Amino acid sequence: MTDRLSAIRANFDEWQVDALLLISPANRRWASGFTGSAAQLLISRQRAVLATDSRYWERAAAEAPAYEIFQMRDEKDAMANFLATAGTKRIGIEAGHVTLARQAALDKQEGIAWVPLAATVESLRAVKSADELAAIRAAARLTDATVAQVPQLARPGVSERAVAWELEKFMRETGAEATAFDIIVASGPHSALPHHHPGERLLQAGDIVIVDLGAQLDGYKSDLTRTFYLGETADDAFWAIYNTVEQAHGAAIAGIRPGVTGKDVDALARDLITAAGHGDHFGHGTGHGVGLEIHEEPRFSRLSEKTIIPAGAVMTVEPGIYLPGYGGVRIEDLLHVTADGAEYLSAAPKSPLIAI
Ligand code: ZN
Ligand code: ZN
Repeated sequence: MTDRLSAIRANFDEWQVDALLLISPANRRWASGFTGSAAQLLISRQRAVLATDSRYWERAAAEAPAYEIFQMRDEKDAMANFLATAGTKRIGIEAGHVTLARQAALDKQEGIAWVPLAATVESLRAVKSADELAAIRAAARLTDATVAQVPQLARPGVSERAVAWELEKFMRETGAEATAFDIIVASGPHSALPHHHPGERLLQAGDIVIVDLGAQLDGYKSDLTRTFYLGETADDAFWAIYNTVEQAHGAAIAGIRPGVTGKDVDALARDLITAAGHGDHFGHGTGHGVGLEIHEEPRFSRLSEKTIIPAGAVMTVEPGIYLPGYGGVRIEDLLHVTADGAEYLSAAPKSPLIAI
């Protein structure tokens, strides 16, 4: 954490601040180690102070030894006394996380010039430490083991919701502290909806079934999608889009190396899909960073022309084609950006046919 504090302070001149107030859970946890639900970090050039209420005093001291603990109580001037520990007037705040109500409260603090920052530690979080990578790797292994259950669970007559619940149970029983997000099971025409919420639709022979899932371990998440087809053989329409998505997926991964832009990698997948006539059927980005949050920096997207992908990032590659009324295909793997390319953190096979 001392290294992380130094890395944060190294940005102060560029941000034109002398201290930083962090309130968002993922930034707070990354910068301090504190896992509780309520705390504020105040990092100045000299001090690092964590303010929390009595529920967390003990836990904060244990989890965030690099920080002084400020005991926040319901009393007049508590916030002012906390802010005074920074010994400065120019304090950066997370523009994307401060609500209007909190801003109004901050504005009542006399003599402080708040500096809204569009991003604070997000780009530092993009490069994973060995411990972070180990947690993500373990979460990815659990996710692989869970998706391997799909051929037994996804049977005609079973609802999407029942399949999602069985997958969640398996994931939890084999060691996940939580699912990384609500598991997506999208069958038949629902597979054309990239973020379908599993419902009561019963799976049937001839369905495409998209399963998108991830495990969480030690706060770190994983992310994986496989597309299945319920039947021993699938028609040409399915294979046409499946093969295109698989090629796009492989092309994007082959282009990953430190220094490329997020837009470059996105284009490797998107150009193939567009050339196959499906440019309008691929509405989302090609991939995203994964860590304490399921979607974090950096991104592989059309808008990421200024995003330089660093060595040490953990990213998904997940192109898709979605045909309204018919169905869709998405293939997603988790990757670690290495010195000269990308290492797969996902190892689940890509074999869509489920014999029924
Ligand atoms: Zn996913
Ligand atoms: Zn994803």
